[in-house]
Amino acid sequence: MIHSRYQGIAFEKRFLPRLTTMQIKEMPKEDALLVLPIGATEQHGPHLPVYTDTLLGEGLLNLAFTHLENENVWLLPPIPYGKSNEHFGLAGTITLSAATLQAVVMDIAKSVSESGFKKIVLFNSHGGNHDLLNMMAREIRIETGLMVFRLNSTAFDVTSEVISEKEQKFGIHGGEVETSMVLDLKESWVQMKYSTREFPKLDEDSNIYLKGGCYFAWLTKDISESGIAGDASLGTKQKGEQFNEKLGIKIAKVLLEMSHFDLCRINQ
Ligand SMILES: [Zn+2]
Repeated sequence: MIHSRYQGIAFEKRFLPRLTTMQIKEMPKEDALLVLPIGATEQHGPHLPVYTDTLLGEGLLNLAFTHLENENVWLLPPIPYGKSNEHFGLAGTITLSAATLQAVVMDIAKSVSESGFKKIVLFNSHGGNHDLLNMMAREIRIETGLMVFRLNSTAFDVTSEVISEKEQKFGIHGGEVETSMVLDLKESWVQMKYSTREFPKLDEDSNIYLKGGCYFAWLTKDISESGIAGDASLGTKQKGEQFNEKLGIKIAKVLLEMSHFDLCRINQ
């Protein structure tokens, strides 16, 4: 099992709050990169746990940190709630308001800045948080002076060789990809007997999407009866293992790049 909380290299070697205040005070901070995972607790259809996005974020970072054992990259505890009001009213969804999430992220950033750190990455594993975190990255930069990076768990394509075009386009929630990834990380939390298939009934040639440059502000109730978008029944542990392993390597690579990223070299 890959995802095992408080075990493995991420938690044994790179989890910042396992250190004492003295150790944190004395550690070299100039190039230290802090990784703040931001997830969600929200409905993910009839078969996946509502903790899916937080679990995925933490699981992927667990994998990434196996490649970062001796690097100056540090994991922070995740924020397990996000801006999930697109799923509001569906049982198990616990959402923060936009204003609350902004305040929480800003307070954490101010605190790490007070501790002397210079670099933070907002690592997000829930689509509904993207816009708010993109905005907050710049607000934090201005308010604290921290170097702020944004990274989404979906930033790298590791699935298009495996899944259909339809799934790539519309499988945005609890579909083949997410189901596979959770099966790999925590199989006992998935109830595959309830997995289903439902795609939003958008015209194939429509220019109006669910995300990207031209989209409409959908609520889950507008686009899905089951709560999912995609074909969950095609999810397998094997696919999930493949996606997670590849993502872990790509995330590790870019975190390392961020830790060496030098703003002075750019604005010289
Ligand atoms: Zn999700």
